[in-house]
Formats: sequence, C-alpha cells, structure tokens
Amino acid sequence: MVSFHCKTCNSEYSVNAGANILMICPYCKNDIGSISDYGFGPIVPCEVYVGMEKVADLDDKYVLRSEKYGINQQMTGEYKDLGYYKCVAEYMHEWLEHTETEAQHYIYSDKKNM
Ligand SMILES: [Zn+2]
Repeated sequence: MVSFHCKTCNSEYSVNAGANILMICPYCKNDIGSISDYGFGPIVPCEVYVGMEKVADLDDKYVLRSEKYGINQQMTGEYKDLGYYKCVAEYMHEWLEHTETEAQHYIYSDKKNM
C-alpha cells in the first residue's frame, strides 16, 4: 500500500500498486508523486493512477496506453530526471482538463480528507 498526498487540495490517495506508479490528483489534475523501483529514474512499465483508479500504463516502449480513455500515445523525454514521467503527467493533465466532467471525479476518491 502506497499513499500519496496532494498539498493543493489536501487529499490523500492510497493504492495497492506495482513497483512503478505515477499518481495524478483527480481534482488538481497534477502529478502528485511517483514511485519507481530505482527511486530516481523513470522506470517502465509504469502504472498511471488518477486518485484511487488505475487508468493507464506506460509500457516498456514508453507508449502511454489507456483502455478507459482510449489513449495510445508515444511519450517523449529523457531518461534522467523522470523525463518520461513528466511527459505522462503533462499529457494526462491536458487530457483530463479537456475531457473530464465533474461527475466522473466521484469514482476516483472517497474524499475522506477533503
Ligand atoms: Zn489535488
């Protein structure tokens, strides 16, 4: 179990996830943390969560895939400094900003810390 805390909206998300995770806050739509099994690099494959829900995977060719959202997009970036994870975070932010509705937010979190 891994917990992520969003400082902006004071929400917390705990997920049972694999070794590599990127967490996006469903309210702010920003990257609020990542975990990778080397601790410093963008390791793939990586699971992408929006709050409590896993929505996508970054595969070992750095392609972001989401059945839920119909995303199949090559990510770009550098290996160092989590470049690929930043690309995913930016892509997801744009995607959520333009396509999410308020109603969909409820499935992501129990909002217990709101
Ligand atoms: Zn937030």
